[in-house]
Amino acid sequence: MFFRQVIGHHDIKAKLIRSAEEDRISHAQLFLGKEGSGALPLALAYACYLSCTGERNGDACGTCPSCIKYQKLVHPDLHLVFPVIKPEGGKRAVSDMFVHQWREAVIANPYLELSQWYETINAENKQGSIFVDESDEIVRKLSLKTYESAYKIVIVWMAEKMNVQAANKLLKILEEPNPGTVFLLVSASTGTMLPTILSRLQVVKLPPIGQRDLQEALMARHGLDEEKAGSIARMSDGNYLRALELMQTETLSWELDKFAEFMRLCYKADFPSILGWVEELDRTGREKQKEFLLYCVRMIRENLMLNLEATQLSRLTEEEKNFSVKFSRFIHTGNAGEIAAEFDKAMYHIESNAYGKLVLLDLAIQTARLIKKEK
Ligand SMILES: [Zn+2]
Repeated sequence: MFFRQVIGHHDIKAKLIRSAEEDRISHAQLFLGKEGSGALPLALAYACYLSCTGERNGDACGTCPSCIKYQKLVHPDLHLVFPVIKPEGGKRAVSDMFVHQWREAVIANPYLELSQWYETINAENKQGSIFVDESDEIVRKLSLKTYESAYKIVIVWMAEKMNVQAANKLLKILEEPNPGTVFLLVSASTGTMLPTILSRLQVVKLPPIGQRDLQEALMARHGLDEEKAGSIARMSDGNYLRALELMQTETLSWELDKFAEFMRLCYKADFPSILGWVEELDRTGREKQKEFLLYCVRMIRENLMLNLEATQLSRLTEEEKNFSVKFSRFIHTGNAGEIAAEFDKAMYHIESNAYGKLVLLDLAIQTARLIKKEK
């Protein structure tokens, strides 16, 4: 991973490079950023940069022996720690037992999130953790001399998954660092981390990825046109994983179609057609219905904002916008709250296994009444 492959975060990259050039590298750093913001790719790019033995010009060279090993995450002075599960009947669990899978997963997607990792190691139903054996392993590895690099780098991904014994042991190492050792902890939240550990770390806090950076990445990496990339970037809140999800899902336009049709029929109070609509939605199953109703609540909120001309707040896709430009005049402060409440109520009833068709029909009757309501 190189800095140039990490989406956005230009200021942070510049800072990291400067501190390396001025030889002010903190021996224990925490890359703190929500999933999808790129904390792991940034830590990997930084580690690669520190170890690069070629000509570094704002990034690692990419061609020296160190860089080549880093691309496969097999540099002998790079140590990888991440949450694992205890194998069936096994007592000991350390990252090295899973390192091939981890490398493969991260090379395929450096923006890997924890749930994807757990899926990879079939741990969906188990709680992964960084166990105390791991800290012993780190101590052992750090007592060996460095092989090829000026630095020994330990990356601890999802450091908040360290259990207390592991954290306490790690603390001792952080308190008495070996020269040339750099710990890069990567974490989505500090909630469960020991304050004593936190106080030892220099925190590199990642904000969500900038909208423009995300848009450009979607265009360059995924071939999206400017408009489509822009609308997905706006809806993703600076989360690359969310953007990928949105990109893959075609449900968005299905939901918009269904919502638009529902509102049109309610406005006309065309109940024979509404019955057809209800039957069609009823066939999709509860999960899909709940998702759809959630979508409707979002659309009502967005349309109210459009109506109030708070357009800079709007996070609609182009398609949604085309529809909402005409529709938003029907959603105003006099009815938006009540309509949204009806959708919430329907969601609640569907969740509690009420008879779907009746719930949806009732929703239509209430919406038909409210949509005509004056401001
Ligand atoms: Zn290099």
